[in-house]
Amino acid sequence: MDFLKELGIKKRNLGASTGLKWIGSKDGGVIDVFSPVDGKLIASVYQATEKDYEQVIKKAYEAFLFWRTVPAPKRGEVVRQIGLKLRQYKKPLGTLVSYEMGKSLQEGLGEVQEMIDICDFAVGQSRQLYGFTMQSEREKHRMYDQYHPLGVVGIITAFNFPVAVWSWNAMIATVCGDTNLWKPSSKVPLSAIAVQNILGEVIEANNLPEGLFSIVIGKGSSVGEKLINDKRIPLISITGSIEVGKHAAEVIARRFGRSILELGGNNAIIITKEADLKLAIPAVVFGAVGTAGQRCTTTRRLIVHEDVYDQVKNSLIKAYKSLKIGNPLNEKNHVGPLIDKAAVELFVDALEKVKKEGGKILFGGKVLKGKGYESGCYVVPAIVEAKNEYKIVQEETFAPILYLIKYKGDVKNAIYIQNNVVQGLSSAIFTNNLKEAEEFLSVEGSDCGIANVNIGTSGAEIGGAFGGEKHTGGGRESGSDAWKFYMRRQTNTINYSTKLPLAQGIKFEI
Ligand code: NAD
Repeated sequence: MDFLKELGIKKRNLGASTGLKWIGSKDGGVIDVFSPVDGKLIASVYQATEKDYEQVIKKAYEAFLFWRTVPAPKRGEVVRQIGLKLRQYKKPLGTLVSYEMGKSLQEGLGEVQEMIDICDFAVGQSRQLYGFTMQSEREKHRMYDQYHPLGVVGIITAFNFPVAVWSWNAMIATVCGDTNLWKPSSKVPLSAIAVQNILGEVIEANNLPEGLFSIVIGKGSSVGEKLINDKRIPLISITGSIEVGKHAAEVIARRFGRSILELGGNNAIIITKEADLKLAIPAVVFGAVGTAGQRCTTTRRLIVHEDVYDQVKNSLIKAYKSLKIGNPLNEKNHVGPLIDKAAVELFVDALEKVKKEGGKILFGGKVLKGKGYESGCYVVPAIVEAKNEYKIVQEETFAPILYLIKYKGDVKNAIYIQNNVVQGLSSAIFTNNLKEAEEFLSVEGSDCGIANVNIGTSGAEIGGAFGGEKHTGGGRESGSDAWKFYMRRQTNTINYSTKLPLAQGIKFEI
C-alpha cells in the first residue's frame, strides 16, 4: 500500500507528537487498526501515556506564549502553506481516510478538499479578526472591543470525519493565535498521524516551535479524560455522541472552561405535496445512505405529506434496489461498510426494536456475508415505516436506517413532528411553495442549527457556521463568525480628557 508509505505510516506508530517529534512510551497499550473495508490490519499505534500527555501539553502551552505574539496575517501565512501541502497529499490522504474509515474514495478526497478549503478561508480570516468601535457616552473617551488569542485548544474528534473536523477547528484556532492539541478517535488514528506528519513538514520549513500542533492518541476514558479535566486548556471542541458530549460538557463547565459541542443529530427532511420529487428523491437517498448513514447530518427521518406518500415510498424503494454495496475504493459502489461489527450490531438491534414498536421494514436491513464482505461490516440500508414517537426513532442510530413518517394537512404539522426530538442539528424541506418554505425558516419553523430549502440535510459548506441546537450541543465551528469562540474578547475604554467622569454620574469628593 504505497499511500501508507507516502504518508509516513509505519507498521507500529508512536501515539504522541509535539509537531516535530513523535514521542511516546510503548507501555500504554497498543491499538490495532483494522480496515472496515476488508477486515485487514492496517497498522498499530502505541497509546499515549500520562507522561507523554504531560510532555505534549507543556510544549503546547509554551508554544502558545510565542504564537500569540505573531501577527495574525503571519499566522495565516503558515496556514496557507498547510493548505498547499494538503493539496500535494490529497490523493494518498483521501485514500487512507477511505480505507481506514470505510467512506467512499470520493468522500475521502472530499474530506481533504474541505481541509484545503478551510485553510483558504482561515487565511482570509487572519486579516479580519475584527472588533467594533462603540460610541462612548463620556466626553473624550474612546471605546472599542478587541480579540486576543485564548490558549491551547483541545480538539476531540469522532471517527466518521477522521481529518476534516479537526481542520475546521484547528485552522481557525491557529490564525486566532491559539495552539492545538488533538485527540482523534481511536477508531481512526492513522489518518490523524498522516496529518500530523504533513504538518511537521510545514513546521520544519518555517522554523516554528514544537507544540503549535500536537496530538495524543488513546482512549476517551484515558487521554480524553485528561484533556477535558485539564485547566491548562481553556477551550475544548468535542465532536461525538450526545452521551460523551454531555459528560464532557459537565466536566469542562465545572472548571469554567469553554466547550464547543458538536454532538449527535436526528435529522429530518420534510416533503410537502408541493415538492419537486425530482430534487427530493436523490437528496433523500444521498442523505440517508451516504457514508453508510454515518454522518452527523445523515437523513434519518423522512416526513412526507399523505398525498405524495405512496409515490415517495415507491420511488425510494426503487432507488434503494439499485444501490451497489461494496468496497468503497471502487467508484462503482454507492454504499461502503459501517465502521466496525459493533456498529452492525446496533443497526440490527435498532431494526428489531422498531419492529417491536410497530414499525414495518419496507426494504433492506440485512447484514451481508460472503465474497467482498469478509470484514462483516456491510449492511443493506433500510427503509422503515414508523411513527415519530417510537423510542428508537427518537434516538440516533449511527447506521443507514431511514424512518418514513406520514403527515396530514398543513406544513405546520410536519414541522411539529420534525422538531419533536431532543436533537437539533440539520433539517430540510422540499417544496415549491414560498409560504411553506418561509414557514419552515421562520421563528415558528425548524429549531435546528441548519435549515435548508430544496437541498438535503447532509453536506454542509465550510463557509457557514456549523453546529446544532438542543442536545446537539449548541456549538458552532468552521465559517461565518465561529472564529470568535477561539479568542477572548476584551472591551477597552481610553480616557484622553483631563477629567474623570465616573459611571452613573457618581461624584466622589477627595
Ligand atoms: P463518540 O462519542 O464515541 O466519541 C467521540 C470522541 O470522544 C472520540 O474521540 C472518543 O475517544 C472521545 N471520548 C469518548 N469518551 C470520552 C471521555 N470520557 N472524555 C473525553 N473524550 C472522550 O462518537 P463516535 O462514535 O466517534 O462518533 C459518532 C458520533 O459523533 C455520532 O453521535 C455523531 O452524530 C457525532 N458527530 C457529530 C458531529 C457534529 O458536528 N455535530 C460530527 C460528526 C459526528
